[in-house]
Amino acid sequence: MADNYYRAILNNQIIVSAVDSKDIVNKAIQLHSLSPISADALGRVLTVAALMGQTLKDKEDYLTTVVNGGGILGSITACSDAVGNVKGCIDVTNAPNVYDANGNLDVKGSVGKTGKVTVIKNIGLKQPYVGTSPMVSGAIADDFANYYATSEQQPCALTVGITINKEGKCTAAGGVLVQVLPNCDAQLLDNVETTLYAMDEMSYQFQFNSAKDIVHKFFGGYDNFVESKSCSVRYHCDCSEQRFERAIVGLGQKEAQSIVDEVGFIEVTCHFCNKKYKFDKNSVDKLFVKK
Ligand SMILES: [Zn+2]
Repeated sequence: MADNYYRAILNNQIIVSAVDSKDIVNKAIQLHSLSPISADALGRVLTVAALMGQTLKDKEDYLTTVVNGGGILGSITACSDAVGNVKGCIDVTNAPNVYDANGNLDVKGSVGKTGKVTVIKNIGLKQPYVGTSPMVSGAIADDFANYYATSEQQPCALTVGITINKEGKCTAAGGVLVQVLPNCDAQLLDNVETTLYAMDEMSYQFQFNSAKDIVHKFFGGYDNFVESKSCSVRYHCDCSEQRFERAIVGLGQKEAQSIVDEVGFIEVTCHFCNKKYKFDKNSVDKLFVKK
């Protein structure tokens, strides 16, 4: 698969990264049978998570982000790791399509802006790092830009765009994240932000250009442009029988056995890929045998 993530550093002061997330969004649509508005909203959060995952330092690091704007879509969750795996889920998979005054899907209104953004980073510390910030718009990109500015005290600029066609497929999707290194020149930042916000609708860019092309096209002319990373990111769920066994053990023996007594087995479905795992009485009993 061609690389769909690309990152460059401008003059040792600004990091620009871009991801083409079309395949990730289409995989989410397929796994969760998403209506267009649910796909657009989850797609935006997956795109941001894909960009954020690449900012993690160690290959074992991973993060989870939860957007709860109080709107009809409910909670939207996306997880990513440092090696390009992204997955996500949304409470309401088949929300009715609502349109704004311009005839576009009203993702903003359907996500809502009364709740918060939470980011949980597992970066090898004793406890995960948890940061939150209030929702400011519901459009997702603005909410995460505000998260970076307020919770991580890292000013950034972020834009995300998703296009879903009449058949409910994603035809273009992507995002661009601009991060500022310490001692960044204010004028440079100003110029980069002007470039970013002058770009046409983000999904339109990704319809015709790769992530690398976009970064080169818009930022290639800046002084001291250095490629810093090019890789592939994908939708991938790493669930396993062992992981759900641990979850059953977490229920406690009494609770687990009462479910088995009542239903005959325990069945769990992974929220991220909808794979089902079934544990019969025998296998549940084995989990509680003292070793
Ligand atoms: Zn799974």
